[in-house]
Amino acid sequence: MRCAVVADIHANLAAFTAVLDDVERRGGVDELWCLGDVVGYGPDPHSCIGLLRGFNHLCVAGNHDWAAIGRLSTSDFNPYAAAACRWTGQQLNPDDVAYLDRLPLVTHKGDFTLVHGSPREPIREYLLSPGSAGENFAFFSSPFCLVGHSHVPLVFEYSQTGTCSVSEFLDGSVLELGENRMIINPGGVGQPRDGDPRAGYAIYDSEARLVSHYRVPYDIGATQAKMVDYGLPMPLVNRLSYGI
Ligand code: ZN
Repeated sequence: MRCAVVADIHANLAAFTAVLDDVERRGGVDELWCLGDVVGYGPDPHSCIGLLRGFNHLCVAGNHDWAAIGRLSTSDFNPYAAAACRWTGQQLNPDDVAYLDRLPLVTHKGDFTLVHGSPREPIREYLLSPGSAGENFAFFSSPFCLVGHSHVPLVFEYSQTGTCSVSEFLDGSVLELGENRMIINPGGVGQPRDGDPRAGYAIYDSEARLVSHYRVPYDIGATQAKMVDYGLPMPLVNRLSYGI
């Protein structure tokens, strides 16, 4: 089975479409796994939910998905994120709201656990250091875990001796799944934050036991023009140019 792993689409339809086109160019997949934050920040929440739902897919809830439907307070969001969240809520129809409301915090498939933030705190915790990632291996039982939330493509590997190391998941790199447990972040589709503005995602091949990371250019200006039209905060518009 081949599966595309996407995270943090953030209502960026141009980025999501570019990723899906890239998936097709690479031979297509059987399933789409989404690690949450389908909406929030970007200009196309309704369309991104609709596009995702058209696929044979799994999805877990992200903090922005819950905030947009009023299930999570925006009190710890920065003012720009909170403003975008209020706008997002106004764009969703009842069916979109019901879909986001049904998303589980954690789901399991084969050798993988899927969460948005971390196994320990599925909707809140950011995994950016080997210290916090290492502690999280006690909070899931499958060999591998997929996370989003930080919008940074990283691989945490837990050795047989109990130490956790981290490495960047670089464009075009291929990860071999072996004996060591891993927590893998495929990067962000709709608002990358590792200094590379291109959309990031991964393809998992279950037979080859490989996970490959890819970066895809997309029409950033098209997304930014819509955000300006809709009056979304300019810092959210500008950051897309830089991948920060
Ligand atoms: Zn996010």
